[in-house]
Amino acid sequence: MNVMNCKSCGRLFNVMANEKICPACKQALEDKFQEVKRYLEENPNSSVEQVANENDVSVKQIKQWVREERLIFSEGSLQGIECESCGKMIRTGRFCDECKANMTNTLKNALDRPKAPEPKKPVRDGDRMRFLQSGMKD
Ligand SMILES: [Zn+2]
Ligand SMILES: [Zn+2]
Repeated sequence: MNVMNCKSCGRLFNVMANEKICPACKQALEDKFQEVKRYLEENPNSSVEQVANENDVSVKQIKQWVREERLIFSEGSLQGIECESCGKMIRTGRFCDECKANMTNTLKNALDRPKAPEPKKPVRDGDRMRFLQSGMKD
């Protein structure tokens, strides 16, 4: 079993999986998440900064929850999160629909790409010469 310092509070704790924070901080973060979620349900049009200020969470943490698709900006919200590829505002996840589609296509193209052409058979110059010579004789 691994022991490491919690990234959040610095206390030593036993690592069960690959977690970076201790169970207490994890629980606190989970409570915070529920709080933010509830806040967003009541205030669906609030900005990230507003949510961060009102709930005492970092903007970074909120964005991480959005990236993890645990939080979704509401339809009417003016705010969102930037697509990691083109920077367009999206409501959840990491990429906009367009970039997601492009990525799927790119992947598909890569898979569909024809194989390199087979090397041409060496031209049999000798045979052709013989043919031409015989043709000239006619
Ligand atoms: Zn901790
Ligand atoms: Zn995009």
